[in-house]
Amino acid sequence: MAYEKNNIFAKIIRGEIPSQKIYEDEKVLAFNDISRAAPIHILIIPKGEYSDFQSFVSTANPEDISYFFKKVGEIAALVGVDKTGFRLISNIGSDSHQTVPHFHVHILAGKKLGPLLSTDNLLR
Ligand code: AMP
Repeated sequence: MAYEKNNIFAKIIRGEIPSQKIYEDEKVLAFNDISRAAPIHILIIPKGEYSDFQSFVSTANPEDISYFFKKVGEIAALVGVDKTGFRLISNIGSDSHQTVPHFHVHILAGKKLGPLLSTDNLLR
């Protein structure tokens, strides 16, 4: 998928629209999801132009891939959910309902989340 430079997360990275930042460095940004699905709902994105997980792991350099996923773990620890547990999700493409075409992972936490995807019958 070609990268769409005006997607909402690209605008957040450029500072064109606001976000509630949790963590930022030269390569990674973490901010609260605007529509929380759990008491703690954080989005973590690399600042590079990757439209989804597949694009990230197939085109980013190995150091940046390693850096990103280590940073996800550090951000989980920063907000304390490494102690209580959390769910890590990345939606990829249309069947997954990916709505923003910039690679991101969701950290969901802050309560007992229940079984994975319990709200729908996925085989129907
Ligand atoms: P996905 O459906 O996996 O692509 O996730 C995109 C997420 O971005 C959704 O959970 C949205 O609530 C969230 N989102 C959309 N716009 C914003 C925004 N301006 N600030 C923070 N989160 C946003």
